[in-house]
Amino acid sequence: MKGTAINWCDNTFNGWEGCTRVSPGCDHCYAEARDARHLTEPFSHWGKGASRRVMSDLKWREPLKWDRDAAESGTRPRVFCASLADWADSEAPSGQRERLWALIRKTPNLDWLLLTKRAGNIRRMLPPDWGVGYPNVWLGVTVENRKHGLPRLDVLRSIPAAVRFASIEPLLEDLGVVDFSGIHWAIIGGETGSGARSIDTVWVEAIIEQCRAQNVAPWVKQLGKVPSDSGAELVVLDEDGSQSGNAEDWNLWPEHLAHLKVRELPSVDRDELTRGRHEADLGRIASELGMLAAGLEPEEAAVELKLREEYISAERKLFLTRLERGQILAAYKALYGPLRKWSKFLRAIGFARRTAYACTVRHRNEQDGATAHERPRAAPDTRLRSSR
Ligand code: SF4
Repeated sequence: MKGTAINWCDNTFNGWEGCTRVSPGCDHCYAEARDARHLTEPFSHWGKGASRRVMSDLKWREPLKWDRDAAESGTRPRVFCASLADWADSEAPSGQRERLWALIRKTPNLDWLLLTKRAGNIRRMLPPDWGVGYPNVWLGVTVENRKHGLPRLDVLRSIPAAVRFASIEPLLEDLGVVDFSGIHWAIIGGETGSGARSIDTVWVEAIIEQCRAQNVAPWVKQLGKVPSDSGAELVVLDEDGSQSGNAEDWNLWPEHLAHLKVRELPSVDRDELTRGRHEADLGRIASELGMLAAGLEPEEAAVELKLREEYISAERKLFLTRLERGQILAAYKALYGPLRKWSKFLRAIGFARRTAYACTVRHRNEQDGATAHERPRAAPDTRLRSSR
């Protein structure tokens, strides 16, 4: 499903377009220039207060197809989000980030690469059920220089995630000593496009060496449009022998740079990821639900215990189906709503009230639909209602 020229991912997804510059890495933002070129509205989508453009429903549905194809082919495509925006932009269009998380949950066969320059926003913009990280989300930050980039790594390593990565692109200076602890993958690249700033091969070498020493997978994307080699101009010849200077294609690099041709991926043990997320998270949830159940009447306590086991074992399957989640939430609502423990229950399982409401309504509608078509009802919540 290769749908992009970016060599470290298989496709890109943008739920919306538009952003605000935050650091020197944005100076020649490709997406901003593209927005200006293709503007169909009388205003730009860039800058503080500028409204972002939400992509069509058709675009939003594309990852569902990629996910189905991936399931059929047994592959795990990497999807970069977002190439025309910043997923952690505080001016993202209302409701679209929640929509993105819902899409990510619906596409467990895709690995979503969420890259941002707004590291300080990441934690508060993660979904309520993030726990130790979704197993299909890789979190990344841009590291273009020491001043802005290295502090972003400090924030990133403190956030639980299946994979954490640094996008060291465009590399604008020698990064010096880099602490890669907690980071799994480093993409390295120079600047491309008009006005591109230079990258030096010595800086790239230094990063690769530090990756090797700290068990991080390096991926050298390209050396940009105007690379230098130990401070001198890097001579790159085109296939016809003319000097181009363009080092985006590593087949054109001179022989002595062969050691920079490295493209490695982090090793990801999916079983371990799944176990890690669930066992840590589910242990905490089970114990909080146990405490919440204290004081229930014996009959209610027996129902709750059964329900809790059902919930934990369904969650262990990684992503509950909509029906399963709706059923269980509706049953707990029937038990804890009248006892005024519903909010505490939602806090224990790390669920937002609005999301829980949507799940239970959807469940009720599905039940109504099933009844209308004379299909058997599959919901366990009736047991609870009759138990009170
Ligand atoms: S954060 Fe990314 S999308 Fe936003 S202005 Fe900077 S380079 Fe462009």
